[in-house]
Amino acid sequence: MTDTHPVLPPASLRLTVDRGALAANWQALNALSGAAKAGAAVKADCYGLGVDNCVPTLRDAGCETFFVAHWSEVPAVARHVPAHQIAVLHGVLDLAGCAFARAIGAVPVINSLEQAELWTASGGGACHLMIDTGINRLGISMDEINSPAVSALSIDMLMSHLASADEDNATNHRQAALLQDAAKVVPHRRLSLANSAGIALGADFAFDLTRPGLALYGGIPRAELAGFIKPVAMVEARILQCHPLAAGEAVGYNATFVAETAMRVGTVSIGYADGFLRARGRGNAVFHESRRLPILGKVSMDMVVVDLSAAPDCVAGDWVSVPWDINAAALQNGLSPYEMLTSIGQRLRKG
Ligand SMILES: *Cc1c(COP(=O)(O)O)cnc(C)c1O
Repeated sequence: MTDTHPVLPPASLRLTVDRGALAANWQALNALSGAAKAGAAVKADCYGLGVDNCVPTLRDAGCETFFVAHWSEVPAVARHVPAHQIAVLHGVLDLAGCAFARAIGAVPVINSLEQAELWTASGGGACHLMIDTGINRLGISMDEINSPAVSALSIDMLMSHLASADEDNATNHRQAALLQDAAKVVPHRRLSLANSAGIALGADFAFDLTRPGLALYGGIPRAELAGFIKPVAMVEARILQCHPLAAGEAVGYNATFVAETAMRVGTVSIGYADGFLRARGRGNAVFHESRRLPILGKVSMDMVVVDLSAAPDCVAGDWVSVPWDINAAALQNGLSPYEMLTSIGQRLRKG
């Protein structure tokens, strides 16, 4: 007979979001934004850390503007904040998008003259406008800003996005100057340019609202931010099984690790499906208390095998910590800090 309310056993892996650190990061970025106020990029499920974990904390810290990419991301965020505080970066692609925007009350970022016409034809109302000042990704171009389709809009935030804010690059200043040129022509309430790295570029880039994402979640895209940003994500997983390995025995797919001497190993409940990508196998380790347990062989989808030589007392069921240092470790493994966060898998987010 099946139980109608089966109780899940405790998870064998968990992500802990340090909400105090998240709030402190938002407050630090808000302070670094000077006279501007900081918003928050909460797209991609708060960069993999979970909307329910993060958005209430950002709201309580004082954040009032939240950015997602897709309309599908709005309902989860709107459970925690007023929908009119949510900006949808991809804008409206069709009448269904316009209808959904009005029904839920979130605000589209208009990115092209087509989107502007569509939004107006469907009834108009408050929107944001993205100007392309050089990234050539989304946004209307500088030679379109005088168009009637733009004048017909009722624009809250006039915004642009920096292509190389993490570098010292003349294009940053050129992009800021172009946004200011656009601001002289296009009526708006607020101006916005800087992402996390842009905040570190200083007051000339802050305007009215900054849009940090990565740095909220512990990423340090520019050295200037290092003293202000705390790590937010902590990952732990349980040892599923321990076993001895004789000299000459191999571990994992394709036998890429072969034991030189007899040793004891543990199989840990985390794999690439959880965002512990294969790039993070070789040369890396997990930790039991402060003891380093090197990873052996290839990372599997749901498991990784570690050397227990430094922790002979470890047994099945013990928790190990899985370093999620999105700054140093990401680069060392050829990943960007963004990828290291956003690849966090669904099972781990729910753990
Ligand atoms: C994702 C995004 C941000 C946040 O960028 P970070 O580099 O993560 O701080 C800001 N603005 C726009 C338009 C974005 O797409």
